[in-house]
Amino acid sequence: DDWPQVAFAGRSNVGKSSLINALVRLKRLAHSSRTPGRTQRINFFLINETLYFVDLPGYGYAKVPDEIQRQWRPMIEQYLLNNDRLAGVVVLMDARRAPMDSDLQLIDFLSRHDIRVQVAITKVDKLKRSERARQIKAIREAVGSHAQGPPIPFSTIKHEGREAVLSVIADWIVPSAENPVGTEPQNREGEQG
Ligand code: GDP
Repeated sequence: DDWPQVAFAGRSNVGKSSLINALVRLKRLAHSSRTPGRTQRINFFLINETLYFVDLPGYGYAKVPDEIQRQWRPMIEQYLLNNDRLAGVVVLMDARRAPMDSDLQLIDFLSRHDIRVQVAITKVDKLKRSERARQIKAIREAVGSHAQGPPIPFSTIKHEGREAVLSVIADWIVPSAENPVGTEPQNREGEQG
């Protein structure tokens, strides 16, 4: 159907389920499964009859055989490219790690196809203040101009970043001065014909 879609992507274990659950304030809407087979799906959650949160399968899951990993990429690319309801993609990166090639390749791919990107840096509570500033800077520099705004530090433990991520999502789906068209579905009310 026509609801706009906001997708979430990141390496396995980056904290994607936790972030989605924190955004919607539900404990187990999205839950990562330890069974690799189950993580291959693209899961759609309809939120308040307003938009979909789309949970993309985590990449780089060590226990998944190469053959299955090879199938993920075409599936995700197919989803991302043939989708005029896609409002943007939130790409998650772990605060404790250097940006991985797979993360940067995804962001580059999205940018090349004019898909909006917001980076969220997960688990920032695990870093000391000085490390935190250094990591945020490193990730910001690695992402460069591929994302529209600076990365958003996120922590489910410290309840940090929720409002900032929701605000970006709202900008993506609600028409505004900056984004006059928005991605509002046409003909949602008062359909013609
Ligand atoms: P997913 O595989 O990307 O969906 O990752 P999960 O949401 O299942 O999280 C992976 C692990 O990281 C779990 O043990 C979470 O409890 C932990 N985690 C997720 N977010 C945070 C956070 O903000 N802070 C801390 N300290 N741990 C987190």
